Order: sequence, then C-alpha cells, then structure tokens
Amino acid sequence: MIEAICLHRIHDNDSDVPSVFHDINMTIQISDLLGMLSDLDATNRISNTTTLVTFDDGWRDLLLIPEDFFDKHCTLMPVIFLTDAQLTGDLTPMPLHRLYSWMQQNDVSLTDLPELQINRNNLKDLRVKDQHQLVSIVTGETQHSIDYLTPSEVSQLKANGWAVGSHGPEHCDLRLLNDDELTNLLSTTYSIVQSNNIKPWIAWPEGRWNNRIANIARELGFERQFGLVEENRRGTDDRVVLRKLW
Ligand SMILES: [Zn+2]
Repeated sequence: MIEAICLHRIHDNDSDVPSVFHDINMTIQISDLLGMLSDLDATNRISNTTTLVTFDDGWRDLLLIPEDFFDKHCTLMPVIFLTDAQLTGDLTPMPLHRLYSWMQQNDVSLTDLPELQINRNNLKDLRVKDQHQLVSIVTGETQHSIDYLTPSEVSQLKANGWAVGSHGPEHCDLRLLNDDELTNLLSTTYSIVQSNNIKPWIAWPEGRWNNRIANIARELGFERQFGLVEENRRGTDDRVVLRKLW
C-alpha cells in the first residue's frame, strides 16, 4: 500500500522543463505518469486502499493531467501544497527555480555550480531572502517568469475536487528556526489556511522536519503533516505521513 506520493514537475517533451529537473529526477513524463497512476489505482481497488497524489511547489505542469482523470481513478486523491506566498497570490519565483531557469538559459549544468560558488544543498539551509540574495550574485537580479499555478487555476482545481494544503510559510529548512520564530510564522500560515478555506495540512519543505517542529505545527492546529521517505534526517513521529517521491 502506498499512502502518499509526491510529484514536482511533469513534462510532455523533455525540453518542456529545464534540463536540471531531469538531472535531479524531479520531473516525469505525462504519459508515463498517467500509466503509473492507473496501475496504482487498479492495485488500490483490489486492496481497497487509497493514495494521496500530492504536488509540491505549485507548478502549472499538473494541468497536463486530463481534467477527468481523478474522477475515473477514484482511489487516488489529488492534493496541491502551496507556500504562503503562492496561497496569497505572490508568484515570485522561488530561489532555486530562478537558478534552474537561469542555468537553462545560460547552458550551465549542475557540475558547473561549484565553480560559481553555489551549492544547492547549502542554499536549501538558508531563509528564502538569503537564498535569493545568493542566487542574485550569480544570476543578476533578472526575474524569470516561472510557470506556477495562478490563484484562479487553483480555485478551478479545488472546484474539480482537488485538495489544497500548505507547503509551509517559506521554502526553507524550517527545523533551523527556533520555537518562537517558527510559531510566529506557522500561526500566519494557519490563518492563511483558514481564510483560504483549504485543508489544515502541511507538507514540510524538502521533507525536512523533526519531532519538535511537528509538535509545534500540531499544537497550532495542523491536522496532517507530510514528509518524504527519501529525506533521511527526519523525525520519528509516526503521525507524519512519509510520501514517496515519483
Ligand atoms: Zn517544495
């Protein structure tokens, strides 16, 4: 039984997404995806189980999925996790997405990054403001437009039965914040969740969580929390659902 899976980008042709998404296995071909989901639905029907099919970071790619797909595969429940900024209509590209899009335009590969003094993993440890600053040193201030779902597309998906939850106050390693700071940020996130009438669920950015921050979120009212199977440095609380990356 697979309780939850996690997806990021979806492409039709390889060139639809910057090549770095292929290199880091964060994109999947649409017909492959639909085939795998159909197989999962068939298995679920036999075992009488359901799977949450979750999408992080708000990519518009998920509109490649036929509108009636999840009606026909009713053991699969689609969920989108969006950051506070995305939930409030601020579609400023996330720092890593800015970097990837710049890399694509300038023919820079992952192996070139150390030369440019950029380390993807170190970047993920920083607050978003600081991530932006470092990325700007390399890419300049140019903002690339990034294909995130617009608020009206999110509303349409909700109307079609998709669930929406939170992907955290900002896309950084929230374990590195102290109790007070995190409580403040997550309280705002929780208000945004309530005012947008979405699920009080949180998918920790990068699947990075520990028992301390899981407790803070639970006390604030988040009813379900999600991590990633692939993130090893995680807490032990078995109430946090571990999603499998696809
Ligand atoms: Zn994310």
